[in-house]
Amino acid sequence: MKGICSICASSLCQICSERLALTFCPVCGRLVCYEDSVQLDNVRRVCRDCYMKGYRTARDLPSEGKYIEGALRLARRVLRLEPR
Ligand SMILES: [Zn+2]
Ligand SMILES: [Zn+2]
Repeated sequence: MKGICSICASSLCQICSERLALTFCPVCGRLVCYEDSVQLDNVRRVCRDCYMKGYRTARDLPSEGKYIEGALRLARRVLRLEPR
């Protein structure tokens, strides 16, 4: 695990598994680092896989609801790993 604690490991990029994730892709929901994601507008980034699939502008993204769903999933994931 290269000296990475389990909490940090849980926030690693799910594409390269090397760098810490910066955000999650609102299309596929994966955690992605800066280098594996592409900025679409001032707040949203998609992973490079989804970018290649055609999600090139903020308008191509799924609805806001799905974005919030992803944020909640990320929050739950972090909460579950926190020490009691
Ligand atoms: Zn990465
Ligand atoms: Zn994606």
